[in-house]
Amino acid sequence: MSQFTYQNGELHAEGVPLSRIAAAVGTPAYVYSQTAMADAYGRFAGALADADLNARVCYALKANSNLAVIRVLAALGAGADVVSGGELERALAAGIAGPDIVFSGVGKTADEMRAAIQADIGQFNVESVPELERLSDVASAMSAGVDIAVRVNPDVDADTHHKISTGRHHDKFGIDIDRALDVYAHAASLPGVDPVAVAVHIGSQLTDMQPFRDAFARVAVLVRELRTAGHDIRKLDLGGGLGIDYGQHEPPDPADYAGVVAETVGDLGCELVFEPGRYLAGPAGVLLTEVIYVKDAETRAFAIIDAAMNDLMRPALYDARHEFMPLKEASDGPQTTYDIVGPVCETADTFATDRQLPTLAAGELLVIRDTGAYGAVMASGYNSRPLIAEVLVHGDQFAVVRSRQEIATILAQETLADWQS
Ligand SMILES: *Cc1c(COP(=O)(O)O)cnc(C)c1O
Repeated sequence: MSQFTYQNGELHAEGVPLSRIAAAVGTPAYVYSQTAMADAYGRFAGALADADLNARVCYALKANSNLAVIRVLAALGAGADVVSGGELERALAAGIAGPDIVFSGVGKTADEMRAAIQADIGQFNVESVPELERLSDVASAMSAGVDIAVRVNPDVDADTHHKISTGRHHDKFGIDIDRALDVYAHAASLPGVDPVAVAVHIGSQLTDMQPFRDAFARVAVLVRELRTAGHDIRKLDLGGGLGIDYGQHEPPDPADYAGVVAETVGDLGCELVFEPGRYLAGPAGVLLTEVIYVKDAETRAFAIIDAAMNDLMRPALYDARHEFMPLKEASDGPQTTYDIVGPVCETADTFATDRQLPTLAAGELLVIRDTGAYGAVMASGYNSRPLIAEVLVHGDQFAVVRSRQEIATILAQETLADWQS
C-alpha cells in the first residue's frame, strides 16, 4: 500500500499533509516515508525468509544514502553495500557495524581499501585482477586478511535500460565468468585475501525474473566448479536490481524473486547476501515541487516547475518516466496535456512530455512519485542551484533530515587565486 494517499482531498505522506511540509520547508524538497521503507524491507526480507534462505540484506547505499534513511533500514537489521569511502563513512555513521558492510565498485583506491580494512568490513567484492592485486598488497601491508568475493559477469542481458545494465560481457563490471576459475586460483595464491564468496549484480530496475534466473544458474555452476577446484566458497552475493513500478509495470513480487533464488542456488548451502537499493527506497520517496509558470506555446502547454534535472537526474539521464500527483485531489475538472519542465538551461531538463494532468495554475504543488532512490543522491549544483532539503515522515511527524543548502555555503567554498586580489 502506498504511503502517499489523498485524505480529505489532500495528498498526504503517511499522516502528514504534504502542503504542511511545503509550507515549513519550502520547495523543491524530497519527502520520504519511513513506513514505506520499512514495509518494503519487510516484504523483501520476509520473502527470503519464507523461502528458507539463509539471507542477509545489505542495503545498497547508493540508492539513497541520507543518514536518516540508512538508520531506518539499519534499525530493521539491514547491513550496507557501499561503493566508495564516503559511503563507508555514512554506513558507519548511521550505526552499521563494519562486519555488516560489503564494499563493491570497480575503482576502489588503496586509501578506500585501508579505511575499509580498518573498519573491519565483512567483505570486499573485487571486480578486476589489478584490483585484486592491489587489495592483496594493502591488506598484507596492514597484516590483515580480508574475505573477498570476485564479482563475475555472467553475460546475461538484463533487458533493462542500457545505462543501468551491468551484466553483459562488454559492460565494465566484474570479471568474465569464463575467466573466473583462473582468477580464483590467482586469488588463492595471494596473501591477505581469502576468496570465500562469489558476487554477481546484473543491473537495475529488473522487472522480469528470467535474467536473474539465468545469471544465478550460471553462478551455481561456477560455485560447483570452484569447489571442485578446492575453493571453500561459503557465501554468495546476488546483488540488487529488483525493479519497482514507475506507473507502467506490475511491480515484481519479492516472493517470485526469492523463488528463483531458491531454485537456482538454494541447494548450495551458502550464506546469501542481497543488495537491494531501489526496491527499498524508490517508492518511499516523492519530490515535492511547485509550478512556477504555465506557459502556453503554439503547439503545447509547458508547466515549469521549481524542481530541475539537477535535483532529479533520472529523466534526463535514462529517459526515466515518473508519475505526477497534484497535492489537491483531482475532481472531474478540466485536463490539459503538458510538457513538465524545470528551469535549468538545457532541453534535457524535461520531466515528462505530453502528460495529461488536471489543469494547473502557477503556485500549485505537485509531487513527482517514486523518487526515493537515485534522486537526491544524484543531485548536482548545476546552474548554482543549491542541494534541496530532504524530509523524513513517520506517522504524523516529519523532520528535515538534510537542510536545504545555502548559496552562501557554496560560495564560501570558493576563493579567488591570490594573484587575482
Ligand atoms: C547499484 C547496485 C546495487 C543496487 O541496485 P538496485 O537496482 O538499486 O537494487 C546493488 N549492488 C551493486 C553492486 C550495485 O552496483
